[in-house]
Amino acid sequence: MVLSDQPLVLGVDLDGVCGDYEDALRRSVAARSGRDPADLPPQTTMDAYSEWGLTFERFEEAHRHAVVTDRIFRTMAPLPGVSEALWRLSDAGVWIRIITARLLFNGIHEASAADTAYWLDANDIPYRDLCFINTKPDVGADLYVDDSPRNVVSLREAGRATIVFDQPYNRHLAGPRAHRWDEMVALVEAELAARDRHVPLPLDDPELP
Ligand SMILES: [Mg+2]
Repeated sequence: MVLSDQPLVLGVDLDGVCGDYEDALRRSVAARSGRDPADLPPQTTMDAYSEWGLTFERFEEAHRHAVVTDRIFRTMAPLPGVSEALWRLSDAGVWIRIITARLLFNGIHEASAADTAYWLDANDIPYRDLCFINTKPDVGADLYVDDSPRNVVSLREAGRATIVFDQPYNRHLAGPRAHRWDEMVALVEAELAARDRHVPLPLDDPELP
């Protein structure tokens, strides 16, 4: 096997993979409408939250409020084990490239981008690139992880190897699939061993004051 002089680049989605967007949006919508968050069920199809009674227009308005007023991109809960898993992969030589479609709606980009950068640092997520783009196949990576059925299908149609991060709305998709971040580590480490890629210098792990 010929050793590549390039590292293995892992394209990592944020919402529904690293952070719990759905729960953050649920809390925002519930607080504004006086509803119990428990009355807003998990999405089983990925659309504009029709299961919560939202149309696309109402979803856009709810998203804008959640981002600009409730600052959910700053405050949302990380999914369990994501920091430890990405540090383990980064230390093993995986190049972490965050790829997110968070600039979905115009006019709220400052809160979206700034809070995303804050959240990544605050939750100790190691990464080397941060890409805001909706057409994910346009961003090069050797391996992708995503929860969105639309993204997984478009990446695979473009010939990109993609791991599904398990969510109720993507169970119809074929694997490989990770149900948790420890499973993701095992899948990516297997890829790393199979491809025998260059290992870059490790990232610093600054101790924040
Ligand atoms: Mg996502």
